Amino acid sequence: MRMAIVALYAGAGLIAVVYAALTYRRRSETPLAVPLSLVMAGAAEWSLASACSLVAPTLGLALGFNYAIFPGVAMVVAGFFWHTTVSSGHRPPRPALILIEPLLLVAVIATDPWHHTFYRQLEAGTFGVIVQPGPAYWVHVLYGYVLMAVGTVLVIRAMRRAVRGQRRMYRWFLVGAIAPTVGNLVTVFIDVDMQGLDLTPLLFLVSGVVWWWSDRSGVTSERVPVTYAQVISALSDAVMVLDPHGRFLDVNPAATKLLAAVNPAGGAVIGKRWQEVADPHFTAMIAGTSQTTISGASGEVYDFRVVKIEAADGSCACTVVVARDITELERLRAELTEQAVRDGLTGVYNRRQLDAVLKAQAHAAADGHPLSIVMIDVDCFKAVNDRYGHAVGDQVLVDLARQLTGSVREGDMVARYGGEEFVVVLPGVDAQTAAERADSWRRQCAATPVDTPLGTLNVTFSAGVAQLAATGSPDDLLRLADEALYRAKRAGRNQILVAESTLSITG
Ligand code: GH3
Ligand code: MG
Ligand code: MG
Repeated sequence: MRMAIVALYAGAGLIAVVYAALTYRRRSETPLAVPLSLVMAGAAEWSLASACSLVAPTLGLALGFNYAIFPGVAMVVAGFFWHTTVSSGHRPPRPALILIEPLLLVAVIATDPWHHTFYRQLEAGTFGVIVQPGPAYWVHVLYGYVLMAVGTVLVIRAMRRAVRGQRRMYRWFLVGAIAPTVGNLVTVFIDVDMQGLDLTPLLFLVSGVVWWWSDRSGVTSERVPVTYAQVISALSDAVMVLDPHGRFLDVNPAATKLLAAVNPAGGAVIGKRWQEVADPHFTAMIAGTSQTTISGASGEVYDFRVVKIEAADGSCACTVVVARDITELERLRAELTEQAVRDGLTGVYNRRQLDAVLKAQAHAAADGHPLSIVMIDVDCFKAVNDRYGHAVGDQVLVDLARQLTGSVREGDMVARYGGEEFVVVLPGVDAQTAAERADSWRRQCAATPVDTPLGTLNVTFSAGVAQLAATGSPDDLLRLADEALYRAKRAGRNQILVAESTLSITG
């Protein structure tokens, strides 16, 4: 039996050595490899020293090996604590700090034959040395258990905060630690006559198997701990948690930044009411809707989402407000909306927008308000293109568009109708007045030369004016203006003519 125990100790010790070495080799992959390897190295020393103590020929040598167990115990404790601090997202403990107790322990053990504070008395047992512990022994045991308890609390806390997929990593680490801990508690505290048998080093085999299995099955592949708090902190969205009275319970860094922008004099917000931090504009929002868009004082735009979190009894416990800065997005949206209604070359409204506006204006004109349009076509434009090139032709169009836009009044609209044709919509204006205005634009155009690389160039345009009849449609209006324009061209260009049926309306 005694030799079987020796064989178990020796076997467990050798397996622990191999495990420690294999784990240490993975130190570049994970910060948890070195502390885990330290735990197994400590378990190996514990086991092998126990085996040696059993086969030692004299009681003195047996005791010597028994003392040699304790640096191993210290390594297990230090490794466990180190592992738990790192895996729970803390910095590794300072080596100087975790080395103090083991060094003191070695000093006490080395001098124990003189002061007997570690072991008061000892005798040979069937499976090892039976000892009567002294105060230094109990201090060491207490120190070890306190460190392990702190480590366990750290792991449990980290497990509760961890993202879901990582929790099993902590769970299996603790499960692995249970067997030797229980074995040690039984050996140290429960008064069973075990004839010097210490179960702890043997039970590290169970830990090894559990940790090896959890590693092989991918449980510990998520080596870097990630907590929900870290995820929330990393969000670029501002996340604010408020209690039922609207007091800030928590804010992430993005929210701190946003609140500082909203209220630069606000300072720290935790514990303050929403109203004390944000202006009433923001406050009104939180009371009502679950989603809203808010513009800040300096033009920034925020999308706010408000989520009520209910308590188990159905009462409202907290409010989570998530805000996103959508200033850039809104700017792009406005730009795209603008681009969708503009002509790419000249920047005036495009044909689609002209149709939409004419339709809307035609409804208004049904109430008796006049609505006129001027259809403009550049004279002999093909010749401009032919003589000066397409680029100069383009420039003529851009210049004319700019002149027209600068000449019209508020409420009027300039649109590019086709290639070198423009339509100006004049709400509230009758045909006669529209023709007079168009004529002033015509004169201005004819008198304004366009600078080109081949010298200055004078362009003229012709235009047809039409006023919407009471029963007319936008299409009728465009057709009438086009007919008038055609007549203006036939009459020699560079002139404005009013549609004939319009003349009959206006009398
Ligand atoms: P008219 O006085 O009878 O209007 O003569 P015109 O030469 O202007 O007649 P027409 O309408 O046949 O010619 C229009 C020309 O405008 C034909 C086309 O090549 C040119 N054009 C159309 N769109 C553009 C453009 O975006 N840029 C340039 N440079 N030319 C264009
Ligand atoms: Mg034309
Ligand atoms: Mg033309």
